[in-house]
Amino acid sequence: MVDLPRCRQATWAEVDRWADRLAEQVRSAHRIPDTLVGLTRGGWVPARMLSDRLGVKRLVSVRAQHWGVTATRDGVASLSEGLSGPVAGEKVLIVDDITDTGESLHLALEHVRAAGPSRVESATFLHIPRSKVVPTYFAEEIPRDAWVWVVFPWNYWEDLEVLAQKAAAIAPGLASIRANLRERCGLDVPPADLERVAKHLSLGPA
Ligand code: AMP
Repeated sequence: MVDLPRCRQATWAEVDRWADRLAEQVRSAHRIPDTLVGLTRGGWVPARMLSDRLGVKRLVSVRAQHWGVTATRDGVASLSEGLSGPVAGEKVLIVDDITDTGESLHLALEHVRAAGPSRVESATFLHIPRSKVVPTYFAEEIPRDAWVWVVFPWNYWEDLEVLAQKAAAIAPGLASIRANLRERCGLDVPPADLERVAKHLSLGPA
């Protein structure tokens, strides 16, 4: 049985609003960090956007792996790459796009705390309350009974490829794929985008 998740496509306008909201929360709490840690890959763009808004120039990364492909978990979460720079004595803010199970942020927090910072906080654009960790700051909550896979702009083509392949397994051909993505995932994908994906994937006859 092919599993096509309910999705929500996030726009750059929403992303901008979430970044503004987080920056405002951090500023009004007087908690501007010395170093931002982007939890890769989802947290890279959000961390860079906060770097811009907060004027924090030091940006390092840490990598957690949990979700293999779009909306499919890869077993147990693991921290696959440690901090790319030292944070001892620093006030640190870890940034990610979303806390869903919270496994990734939990691992990142443990790893960063062990590196001896003077303070560690966390910020995510979106937060689902089932998460085992509540970020210090988050811009918007997705109710736990309204779980969706969020198609962020930085994951658009990757998500589209995975979802289109899953839809092709139900009914091949671009028209059927488009219809299934609309009906089952709630995504309205422009035909040109599906054609672009189809150039290097086998999605059945057009
Ligand atoms: P998690 O460890 O489950 O909190 O999530 C790890 C990472 O997987 C997140 O930082 C996102 O990049 C991605 N992810 C998890 N759940 C979702 C979701 N519902 N929508 C979009 N991306 C997600």
